[in-house]
Amino acid sequence: MADSAKARFRTLLILGAPGSGKGTQGLVLGQIPRFHHLACGDVFRSLDTRTPLGQKFVQYSSRGELVPDDVTVALWRANITQRVDSHAFKPEIDLLVLDGIPRNVEQARLMEADIEVLKVFHLSCPDRAELARRLRKRALKDNRFDDASEAVIQNRFATYEAETKPILEHYAGARVVNIDASQSPARVMHDILGHVLQLPAWQEIERMNV
Ligand code: AMP
Repeated sequence: MADSAKARFRTLLILGAPGSGKGTQGLVLGQIPRFHHLACGDVFRSLDTRTPLGQKFVQYSSRGELVPDDVTVALWRANITQRVDSHAFKPEIDLLVLDGIPRNVEQARLMEADIEVLKVFHLSCPDRAELARRLRKRALKDNRFDDASEAVIQNRFATYEAETKPILEHYAGARVVNIDASQSPARVMHDILGHVLQLPAWQEIERMNV
């Protein structure tokens, strides 16, 4: 796929602690024509848990830890290639919306040849008690075993602080936008779209009118 001769996917990253609403925002954005949403956690959850990779996912996620970078990026690459090949994602006319990947600086480096990061939306919510409340609610509704235990929730927060948050430094500058994730999902979406509409890449897509 994206070798040096090929254009990188024009990408928006949604970053935030577990429970900050990444998935919700990604899902809504992905419903709008010319945005293509990919949630890495969903790709992992779609794996057959009897396969070695599926087992690996259960092993790490049940502890609130990240799956190792090499297998994660390889899985992501295989998945996005499939989407391009089936024309579900059309890189010439779509923006890619990634949630849950890259999840640390090493993954960001490994994906540098594949994605051109236009904006990083940091869904910021310092109130961890509120995030934990959202996760417990989701655990019941969506059967998410990794959100069901208090110890795993706390470990997911710790993993986010230690491994994922440094990505903000990696992409530091105008590309990073802080969004108040304690707002209603509608307001968060309004804020994100306000920034997206200003992007030259997005305006170019609009002009193509496909
Ligand atoms: P999420 O649905 O994004 O909260 O992801 C659920 C779990 O899947 C995480 O706690 C990790 O164990 C695993 N996971 C998802 N995305 C990644 C990633 N980019 N790198 C490593 N592990 C991941």
